[in-house]
Amino acid sequence: MSLESELFAWLHDRLPPDPKLTVGLGDDGAVLPRSHGADTVITTDMLNDGVDFLLAEVEPQVVGHKALAVNLSDLAAMAARPVSAFVSLVLPRGGSPPQSPLELAIGLYTGMLPLAARFNISIAGGDTNSWDGPLALSLTAVGHTTEGGPLTRCGAQAGDQLLVTGRLGGSILGRHLQVEPRIEEALLLNERYSLHAGIDISDGLALDASRLVQASGVGAFIDTSQVPLAPAAEQLSQRDGRSAVEHALSDGEDFELLLAVPARVAEQILADQPLQVPVTRIGEIVADPGLWQVGSGAVPIPLEPCGYEHQGDKS
Ligand SMILES: [Mg+2]
Repeated sequence: MSLESELFAWLHDRLPPDPKLTVGLGDDGAVLPRSHGADTVITTDMLNDGVDFLLAEVEPQVVGHKALAVNLSDLAAMAARPVSAFVSLVLPRGGSPPQSPLELAIGLYTGMLPLAARFNISIAGGDTNSWDGPLALSLTAVGHTTEGGPLTRCGAQAGDQLLVTGRLGGSILGRHLQVEPRIEEALLLNERYSLHAGIDISDGLALDASRLVQASGVGAFIDTSQVPLAPAAEQLSQRDGRSAVEHALSDGEDFELLLAVPARVAEQILADQPLQVPVTRIGEIVADPGLWQVGSGAVPIPLEPCGYEHQGDKS
C-alpha cells in the first residue's frame, strides 16, 4: 500500500463519515454544504521544518497542533466560525528517524484531530507527498461569517480604542507551540459588540498593529505602560536584559486578538470583561498614519514596527 493509502486508512478509522460534509475525504474533491447566508472565509498557512519549528526538538503532535491552530487563529482574526480544514503534507522520504514517514504523518494528525474535534471542524481533504527535503505542511482552513459579518484589518477609525486579548510576550518559552486560537472569543466579541477592525498577533504586537493601521489608512498611539505582559515576557527579560515590554511588542506568536473598536464600545467591553481571558486597552487610533508609543505622560515617539518578518509575507 502506498503511504497515502495507508494514511487514508488510518484516518478513515478515526474520522467516520462526517454528516457536515456533502462529500468528504476519499473523493477527488470535497463538497461543502451551502452556508445559508454566511460568507465563506478561507485562509492558508504553511509551516516548514527549520523555519517555523525544529522537528528534531519537538514532537510531530505538537507540530500538527500548531499548524492547525495558526490557521484557526487567522479565522478568529476574521471572526469566522471554522468549518473545515484541508491538510497537505510533504514528508521527508526517510521520515524523522526513528519514525517512518507514515508514523510522522500519523503523529502530525494526532496533534490536529483533538483541536479539530474541539472546534467541530471537518478534515475535508488534502494531499500527502514525500521528497528528499525537510517536512513541510500547508493547511487551509474554511470558515463562515456569523451575524456580525467578517472582521477585517481595514475598518479602524480615528478615535477608536485599541484592545488586546490575553497577555503578550515571551511565547518562545512554550506558548508558541501550545497555540490557543481565540475563536470563541472573537465570535463572542463580534456578535455582541460593534467592532471596527481586528487582526491576530502572529508576528508581534508592533508589527501586527502597524499592519492594521496601514490597512485602515490611519495611525495609532500605543501606551506601552498598559500592554498586558505574560509571565514569560518577564522571565525572558530577566534572562536577556531586554525589557518585558520589548518582548511583548516584538516577540510574536502570541495569537491574541488586537481590535479597534469605537470608544463607547471599548468602555462597555472593558467593563463587561466578557471573556475567560482579560481584555485590555492599550492605545488609540489616530488620523495621522504611523505608530507611536506613549508611556506615562511622555511625548509620543515613533514605534518601530518590529517583529518577526517572514521571508515572503503571510497573513
Ligand atoms: Mg493573521
